[in-house]
Amino acid sequence: MTDLTAARETLQRVFGHSEFRGFQSDVIAEVLEGRDVMAVLPTGGGKSFCYQIPAILRPGVGLVVSPLIALMQDQVAALRAAGVNAARLDSTIVSDQRRATLDAARAGQLDLLYLSPEGLFAQGFLDFLEECPLALIAIDEAHCVSQWGHDFRPDYRALGQLAGRFLGVPRTAVTATADLKTQADIRTQLKLENARAFIDSFDRPNLVLSAERKSTQPQDRIFDLVNARRGKSGIIYAGTRDNVDKIAANLSALKVPALAYHAGLDAGLRADRQHRFQEEDDVVMVATIAFGMGVDKPNVRYVIHADSPKSIEAYWQEVGRGGRDGEMAEGFCIYSATDLRRAIMFANQGAATEQVKAVQIKKARQLFAYLDGLTCRRAGVRRYFGEENAERCGVCDICTDPPVSIDATELAAKAISAVMRMDQRVGRGRVVNHLLGRTGDGLDEQYATRTTFGIGADQPEPVWRNVIEHLLFEGVLSEGDDQRPTLSIGDDDTVRAIFRKEHVVRMREAAPPTRRSKEDRRATRGAKDAVREGFKGEDAKLFDALKSWRRETAHASGVPPYVIFHDATLAAMVRDKPADFAALGRVSGIGEAKLKKYGAEVLAVLIAGV
Ligand code: ADP
Ligand code: ZN
Repeated sequence: MTDLTAARETLQRVFGHSEFRGFQSDVIAEVLEGRDVMAVLPTGGGKSFCYQIPAILRPGVGLVVSPLIALMQDQVAALRAAGVNAARLDSTIVSDQRRATLDAARAGQLDLLYLSPEGLFAQGFLDFLEECPLALIAIDEAHCVSQWGHDFRPDYRALGQLAGRFLGVPRTAVTATADLKTQADIRTQLKLENARAFIDSFDRPNLVLSAERKSTQPQDRIFDLVNARRGKSGIIYAGTRDNVDKIAANLSALKVPALAYHAGLDAGLRADRQHRFQEEDDVVMVATIAFGMGVDKPNVRYVIHADSPKSIEAYWQEVGRGGRDGEMAEGFCIYSATDLRRAIMFANQGAATEQVKAVQIKKARQLFAYLDGLTCRRAGVRRYFGEENAERCGVCDICTDPPVSIDATELAAKAISAVMRMDQRVGRGRVVNHLLGRTGDGLDEQYATRTTFGIGADQPEPVWRNVIEHLLFEGVLSEGDDQRPTLSIGDDDTVRAIFRKEHVVRMREAAPPTRRSKEDRRATRGAKDAVREGFKGEDAKLFDALKSWRRETAHASGVPPYVIFHDATLAAMVRDKPADFAALGRVSGIGEAKLKKYGAEVLAVLIAGV
């Protein structure tokens, strides 16, 4: 049997799926050959199988380093439900259990062992690991190693040591968010210079996105959005604890099952709330970003940013918590100039180096230009992550209802000329002053003799700031990463095309009005989709019956319902109506262990329902 045949067989037998997705088989093939690999796959892209399947197939224990306990708990629960010998070591594990796990690891009886970096570097633990047969080392959420990413964790840095310590053990770094700089950093920090990289598209075709400026009554707006989606599971991100509490209280007063979550709450209460959110279908979580990486509930149907996130990466990761099951999910981002100011202020107050702060500020600016821009939401993010030829999504607010825009080609040409005449050596402020014909200091004076000095005096300063931000977001101009970023030409071809007037630059004219009526239309359309995707009549009853069986079963074993079966698997059962074990085993998402464990009960529900 070739390696990949064995991998496919494992996918089917253990997890009940018949085909690999995207780059999964490429990544798995590398690991099975014993080589290091780096994989950047979108949320829901199935990163876990990339290391779980080789860990099952290769002799020894697959070590998985993961940043969060909640994330480990869910993965281990799901693996165990599928009959895989998986365990975790974290601070919640009592010492008896810990000893049993360590013994099993040393004996090579575990397929997968999940740990936090703290656990890994605890006194003497690496020495212990040297006695264990290791199948591979997987580093989940690998972007945490980079200070250019948005979840920097200093303790991830030490993971580079593993390269020298466990020679011959293949290492796999996986993440869903890493721009080019972060990818380079993952390679150097984790000593993966020779690893093959598999970078998938960042597209999330099932996300329907929109963004709008805050109205004078942002709370009402949030209520309208949530109200139109009652009964669905959603996440609302707010920028401050205060705002979280306020929104949650408002929604609760309006009889929406809303929970607040932020770092100011007691840990037990937070765990309870996260648990309720995972378990119940219609709960709305109102949270700061403290509610984060561990969230892998598959059927989150919408994510609302009540305040803007801090970067496009953060936005994509947060909004990406919607629709992990592949079904339609909506993302709304509500932003204001105050949010941008706050992001810049936070960046400046942090403990990071000046260089890191400058990057954070630049990222906040790029996010804002994006939110307020004219680019298709999904295509914009994909280009930001370095994808070429990203096509329009056709379903976002910009695609379905393009905002009023102006032809800024000539303005763009003037701004670009100024950047060039100033030798691509100065930052935004100086370029704007130069266009306006103003001078501040000697350097400004020096450039005042250039032909571009004052060519923009007919426009007010904010227009020039807008033009430059817009060009930055389009990638026509680029900005350095240093503390005082200089503007330079990002894309020569587009610049030439702009000068020849072959490339038209369009910019949003003014603040877009809050588009409530359009929103209502979108909500209605969402509701229709739900009916179409769902079932009617007998099938709807059968689906409900399967869901209540799942709820009871999950409750009895103390795991979230999706650990038993995903919604998509239940839906496939309703569609296929398998009448015996063999047919049930062919339904996607049902592996051997689950067939054995739940087959009879599920068939009973199916037969009673038909
Ligand atoms: P992420 O990349 O976001 O970590 P996961 O590994 O959690 O994604 O996988 C997301 C979902 O997709 C899981 O429910 C998983 O079972 C499912 N999945 C992954 N790979 C496949 C596949 N090849 N076929 C069918 N379902 C898959
Ligand atoms: Zn679009």
